[in-house]
Amino acid sequence: MSNSSNIFLDLDGTVYVDNIVINNADEQIRRLKNNGFQIYYLTNNTSKNTEYYKSKLKKMNLPISNDSIISPTNVIIEWIKNKNYKTIYVLGVEDLKKEIIEKTQVKINSKNAECVIIAFDKELTYKKLEETCKLINNGVPYYLSHIDNYCPTLSGNMPDCGSIGFMIEKTTGKTSNGHFGKPSELMTSYIRKIIGDNNKNILVGDRIQTDIAIGKKIGAETVIVCSGEFKKDTEINYNLENTQIHNTLTDFLLTI
Ligand SMILES: [Mg+2]
Repeated sequence: MSNSSNIFLDLDGTVYVDNIVINNADEQIRRLKNNGFQIYYLTNNTSKNTEYYKSKLKKMNLPISNDSIISPTNVIIEWIKNKNYKTIYVLGVEDLKKEIIEKTQVKINSKNAECVIIAFDKELTYKKLEETCKLINNGVPYYLSHIDNYCPTLSGNMPDCGSIGFMIEKTTGKTSNGHFGKPSELMTSYIRKIIGDNNKNILVGDRIQTDIAIGKKIGAETVIVCSGEFKKDTEINYNLENTQIHNTLTDFLLTI
């Protein structure tokens, strides 16, 4: 295989669960990096900022560079710059808000907010929900950072951004205007810019509707693993014909 290949790896359920790397995947990822592959990590999780991911992956001995982490946060930042928003409201953790402010100079404030972004807020309070609903009730458009309903953990599934969004939608009667995570058009075009025309691309993930869906949109070879959400006996109504199925990321990476 050509060494100009890009490999896009989902994180939760593919590379690790919580803080445990699945099946020593780090060894294989390092081997491929040493063989010239470009490694990108894709996550929909906006409860942490980019710096957090960099240090988490470093601790796991995973190769990273400045632009190797792709999350809705990067896409949101680019989108805010393009829209030239001056003030927005973000239902999200402080670290995420700080990163958005630093990289865009936008003000995050409910007063005069031009749009609302709902992220995976692990610091959620009722007061923040009230603030969010007030704006949406007044006609301010809202977006979700991503649409995953739950996040897999060693204690089972926990509510994610999609579920927070459902609560807002049920409350306000208004649906979101879109999202920035896998497999949105906004994230797809963000990734298309990275890969350009010439490279061979591989995407590995554990979720059909987000990982495999965006892999197909960017024209990558797709691989689904059974270490997270997808299991071999999962009932699916999705065409997996051109998608390889492996137990873990390591099992797949050993084939290349
Ligand atoms: Mg996953």
